[in-house]
Amino acid sequence: MSKGLIVQKFGGSSVANPECIKNVAKRVTGYKKNGYDLVVVVSALGDTTDELITLADQINKDPSEREMDMLLSTGEQISVALLAMAIHKLGFEAISFTGAQVGIITDSSHMRARIIKINGGKIQQELKKGKIVIVAGFQGINLNQDITTLGRGGSDLTAVALAKELKANSCEIYTDVKGIYTTDPRIEPKAKKIKEITYDEMLEMASLGAQVMQPRSIEVAKKFDVPLHVRSSFSPDCGTMIIKEVKKMEEVVVNGVTLNKNEVKITLCNVSDKPGVAAKLFKELACGQVSVDMIVQNVSHTRQTDISFTTPKTDSAKALRITKLVARRIGAGDVSVDQDIARVSIVGVGMKSHHGVAAGMFGVLAENKINIEMISTSDISISCIIKKKFAETAVRALHKKFGLAK
Ligand code: ADP
Ligand code: ASP
Ligand code: MG
Repeated sequence: MSKGLIVQKFGGSSVANPECIKNVAKRVTGYKKNGYDLVVVVSALGDTTDELITLADQINKDPSEREMDMLLSTGEQISVALLAMAIHKLGFEAISFTGAQVGIITDSSHMRARIIKINGGKIQQELKKGKIVIVAGFQGINLNQDITTLGRGGSDLTAVALAKELKANSCEIYTDVKGIYTTDPRIEPKAKKIKEITYDEMLEMASLGAQVMQPRSIEVAKKFDVPLHVRSSFSPDCGTMIIKEVKKMEEVVVNGVTLNKNEVKITLCNVSDKPGVAAKLFKELACGQVSVDMIVQNVSHTRQTDISFTTPKTDSAKALRITKLVARRIGAGDVSVDQDIARVSIVGVGMKSHHGVAAGMFGVLAENKINIEMISTSDISISCIIKKKFAETAVRALHKKFGLAK
């Protein structure tokens, strides 16, 4: 009799080399021995996805997104097969599948596809035979039979979606840190592990750059109330629970500091300061499925103004192409790209009911002589765009200022 189903996801660093893959196999079979059914989602080995992107870039700077998905999905196909072999070697039955083989059906937005449905029948069949089922993360197939990918870090989403579809008892996200920390422990070794965090705060932290979880996976976990346990592949310790509500002894104003170095700033100069111009630009960008984040329009003294916006690096070639096209069409000036930016943010639900948080943030940046180029806020976060070279200093200073250190 099975003790229940666990979905476990192992990230790239957890399967970076043969030793790591054998470690994962040991861990997974340990659970099987203890009577659990297992669906294991795996990412590509180490930095494979980055390496494939670099490879494509050497061939074509603005490649077809369909072909990118064809290329990037190969990374996960390697790791599932190797993990199945490692499990076989330990004397257990396991079978690996691509996203398409287990019926992960998505829309056609290549490189950022959304899961429409999962035909979980095949996985159930193999589980019934007593096999450990290994699924390639980060990928699916659209109704045209084209391979799609779910956006960077998308294996997290595969795991959450499978946990929901298969009504798993739990969903565990294994990575190279012991859980969710108050900031990236690689930048600030004094960062504290958080025991429990709400979907809302985690979603904000993830969207603002805490790469440990993919934002969309948290959205889906929240929507279907799938509790997530983020923990280390290399330690038996409990990690962080991501759940609906957290009882706190006292209200914490700022819960975490995040950093995102994966955005660029695009500026369109000498635009006429009249109604409809911003609408034209951002409508075209939306049609091209470019995600736009912060937007700033300078105050105009001469009836001409500049519009700047930030966009993920992955969208920058497309954003640049579209912005130049619109600039020509509306008779605007030059279009420039600034790669040298970073976004630092502070996150916390307590911000809603406290004054002076923004002043505290700007004050710390000023003390460190860091200039703020753009600012944006939400209910539970404040972000500043600064020069990249100050990024780590800013994170450490903010972490200290808001009392987050151990
Ligand atoms: P995986 O390969 O397991 O998917 P990722 O590299 O995507 O792992 O995410 C784990 C990394 O996220 C950690 O090594 C850590 O440096 C980084 N990270 C950034 N912010 C945080 C945070 N607040 N808490 C934990 N890890 C974080
Ligand atoms: N391999 C993919 C990436 O690097 C998906 C993942 O790791 O979750 O983005
Ligand atoms: Mg990841």
